[in-house]
Amino acid sequence: MGFVVGLKCRECAREYPIEPIYVCEFCFGPLEVVYDYKAVKQALTRETILQRQKNLWRYRELLPIDGEPQVGLHSGFTPLVRTENLASELGVNNLYVKDDTVVHPTLSFKDRVVAVALTKAKEFGFDTVACASTGNLAHSVSAHGAKSGFKRFIFIPATLEASKIVASLIYEPNLIAVDGNYDEVNRLCSEIANKYRWAFVNINIRPFYAEGSKTLGFETIEQLDWVAPDNVVVPCASGSLLTKVWKSFKEFYEIGIIEKLNTRVFAAQALGCNPIVHALKSKTDVIRPIKPHTIAKSLAIGNPADGYYATKIVQETGGAGEDVTDDEIIDGIKLLARTEGIFAETAGGVTVAVTRKLIERGIIGRDETTVICVTGNGLKTQEALNGKTVKPHHITPNMKSFEEVLSKIR
Ligand SMILES: *Cc1c(COP(=O)(O)O)cnc(C)c1O
Ligand SMILES: [Zn+2]
Repeated sequence: MGFVVGLKCRECAREYPIEPIYVCEFCFGPLEVVYDYKAVKQALTRETILQRQKNLWRYRELLPIDGEPQVGLHSGFTPLVRTENLASELGVNNLYVKDDTVVHPTLSFKDRVVAVALTKAKEFGFDTVACASTGNLAHSVSAHGAKSGFKRFIFIPATLEASKIVASLIYEPNLIAVDGNYDEVNRLCSEIANKYRWAFVNINIRPFYAEGSKTLGFETIEQLDWVAPDNVVVPCASGSLLTKVWKSFKEFYEIGIIEKLNTRVFAAQALGCNPIVHALKSKTDVIRPIKPHTIAKSLAIGNPADGYYATKIVQETGGAGEDVTDDEIIDGIKLLARTEGIFAETAGGVTVAVTRKLIERGIIGRDETTVICVTGNGLKTQEALNGKTVKPHHITPNMKSFEEVLSKIR
């Protein structure tokens, strides 16, 4: 039995049945999934969750499907790493990394949203799935779609890193490389979605897709032993992940899984693509679109669809927005790798570097519990580190050559 009541416009609250639609016909506001929380509260308790398998479907009553999960049965339930070395280097006591560098199967948090989107696409009867992507979504739709038997059309900006393109092509989707930036790709895809009956995961089935992000928040609370953190630092592209992490915390509060909720939500962006953080720093909720220019390509959305809502949440929870330069992003990646042995992609460098700034400025306190969302794997964006890592020691294959080097290391 499903627990979904329907779709509802976030602006005018008009209600809609469950269909592959995403905007309100009257005010063009975005549609959001609504649940029967009374019924969910009866069905979903800590005990029921704990009895289930360790994947994102263990919270299925709060995910927008009617039948059984069909995609992503191994996705989710990534480690929440309590940092020791990183915490001590930054001078705090309770610092955690939610480590989505290791989500099955394509090593970014997008495997969560796509698992939900493709299950819903099956329920709607689609045979073709599609997406507009900055890279990670392309990987996940290509892979999850291969396993679950969909025809796939993947649209990317042609300038994407070569390694990111290979990591989609290996699953043999129809990959369309567009001469344009992400926002232009996205606009084209909206037109295509109007003409062809395809499930565009981040367009016509976006309300369902986006709900998958909540599982990152549910897991975080479960892994903190059923408490919400004092602070959560979330990377923002369209702003959807941030809004859904907050929704997940509110839902666990609403159904009584946690007793208190005082979390401050922080938005992290690259300086070269900071429309959400810029609005926050300017103390407004008006998002001014920009042209992205940053190594954090997975966050390079200049006109963020959920920017307004993300900004509101940060303001209402007493959080803040912070941005970092490309050099600070590289330092963030290296810091996390050197201290915790976790290799994050550029988006992870953004959240780590932003968290460091927030701690240095005293905005995040020494004894507060803070969770940094690290959302993608560093193996995907190795180009960004060319010439920026330590160098190998080069030797000839004999003991003398080795010991010469060794004497310098010691
Ligand atoms: C897509 C993505 C995000 C956040 O995306 P939103 O559009 O804000 O939900 C964060 N990190 C990585 C690595 C991503 O690929
Ligand atoms: Zn409306």
